[in-house]
Amino acid sequence: MNAYAGTVLRVDLARGKITKESLNLELARGYLGGRGFAASILYQELEEGTDPLGPGNKLIVATGPLSGLLIPGAGKTTFAAKSPATGGYADSSVGGHLCAEMKYAGYDAFIFEGVSPQPVYLFVDDEEVELREASRYWGQGSISVEKVLKEELGEEFQIATIGPAAERGVVYSCVSHDFGRQAGRAGVGTVMGAKRLKAIAVRGTKSIPVADLDEYRRISRQMYDACRASEAWESWARLGTSGVNMWSDEVGSFPTRNFQSGAFEKAEGLAGELMRERIVVTDKACFGCSSPCGKWSHSKKHGIRVEGPEYETAALLGANVALSDIEDVAYANYLCDEYGLDTISAGNAIAFAMECFEKGIITTEETDGLELNFGQAKVVFALLEKIAKREGIGDILAQGVKHAAHVWGKGSSDFAVQVKGLEMSGYESRNAPAMLLSYMTADVGAHHNRSWAITYDLEVGRDKVTEDKAAKVIELQHIRPLFDCLGCCRLQWVELGLDLGYYAAVLKAVTGVDRSWDDLLKISERVWNLTRAFWVREVEGFGREWDYPPARTWKEPVISGPTKGKFVSREDVEKLLDMYYAQRGWDKNGIPTREKLEELGLSDLVKI
Ligand code: SF4
Repeated sequence: MNAYAGTVLRVDLARGKITKESLNLELARGYLGGRGFAASILYQELEEGTDPLGPGNKLIVATGPLSGLLIPGAGKTTFAAKSPATGGYADSSVGGHLCAEMKYAGYDAFIFEGVSPQPVYLFVDDEEVELREASRYWGQGSISVEKVLKEELGEEFQIATIGPAAERGVVYSCVSHDFGRQAGRAGVGTVMGAKRLKAIAVRGTKSIPVADLDEYRRISRQMYDACRASEAWESWARLGTSGVNMWSDEVGSFPTRNFQSGAFEKAEGLAGELMRERIVVTDKACFGCSSPCGKWSHSKKHGIRVEGPEYETAALLGANVALSDIEDVAYANYLCDEYGLDTISAGNAIAFAMECFEKGIITTEETDGLELNFGQAKVVFALLEKIAKREGIGDILAQGVKHAAHVWGKGSSDFAVQVKGLEMSGYESRNAPAMLLSYMTADVGAHHNRSWAITYDLEVGRDKVTEDKAAKVIELQHIRPLFDCLGCCRLQWVELGLDLGYYAAVLKAVTGVDRSWDDLLKISERVWNLTRAFWVREVEGFGREWDYPPARTWKEPVISGPTKGKFVSREDVEKLLDMYYAQRGWDKNGIPTREKLEELGLSDLVKI
């Protein structure tokens, strides 16, 4: 099958049995790859009501048809499972080189089932596949183990690891790869830890078949030339996502002190240019990428090297906990990377505890004696360690802010900044209704990468709550996750303005199947409805109220900065959902209708 490796590796961890299966043609045609594969496999193979941390859950690692080809950014791997953080669908993609190596070894996807009786890692060297004992790595940091495995196996092996946080069941643990890239969100690393799978190591030497080699080369060359010719290339390659830090602060979306504000009075300390000059050592890119957004940094103050901090980390472990020294944020980033913690959820958890402390909801009695004041770097470092080790207050925060609010009560759930149990990523949205709706309806919980609509709010008017905003969110929710089906980075389109038409053209050249961009968007819509159906099936009573943002959205205006005094009313929240559901073809409770499922070819599979 052109553009695919043709084989799926099924790994039964309980029995130590590995099976090679032919890639299902229907799966490839109907779901493309990556997140599409994951959603389809999880929906079909998971028993209803599966415990996310039990043997019934499956961890899917999937590439896409563009993964591993010489196309800008074709280095994205999807990790997916039923989420221990939310109880619903989870997928998270990671850049780097893993998917390319998987395809070169001959595999489109790995499916991990069951629980291993002892720590193991999956070793893949082309046809040679086996589970190897990994007890000696258990308890060690993600980055440390990647380094050791590279030394033991060889530099050309691509490695994915988990850290101690995942081993201990912190619900927002991530999978780490390429020394600082993460499949970070919704606890895909936690599932890997529950399976006692410490790492995956892959080397491959084969080629990927393509339908029309000349056409593929021609279009690919055009794509690289267009990226390099983009006016945005230079600043993107120089600063990466850290270039967003000051912009976000200026428009009042930089989450500050647990999202109480969207502007940080000390944001200058986190500016991308300052970071570049002070700590960045070199640039770092994923497979096939000519616009390196990764920044490899060295903090002399803390004596560490780390990839980052990228925007989300500067937002959540910087402004949101009121740290203004980029070297302190870099150190917090380093700790998260070694422990294997998602910096977004960890930053939220610490900020939430700090606001609870500020309001007197918790005292030093609940905090193991720590004074949880905003802006205290040592407190942030201490809490990260406590979370990773699940010690004292860390054990409560390790289960997410929704859980912590449930434990501490006293109205704290109003400012536990999450949707569906997943902590919000880095955009304060009380004056950006389209961005807020993106968070409310994202299919893993409050994550921005499905629809980054804040620029649309700025373009058409921030106060407006109109049909076009719901339409824009839906449009983005089909385009952006489509890249995760293709196994390719979206940032060349988002940041460099690469024309979307290239992707349909190059996909046709490599697969030999003629599909328009609209055909591909329809597949993305199918996947979106399938992940929604997964939530409906797995979460009892799932519906409209699961899409509500935290009550702070309508109860408390922004306290400072350019959006001071702004909030989205409860009526507008309901209006946003009404417009969104109607345009999606869902009922008023947010459930896909039979007509919509039939239109998307899902009516036989989905029984709701
Ligand atoms: Fe990786 Fe950044 Fe390039 Fe995307 S733009 S492929 S995330 S280095």
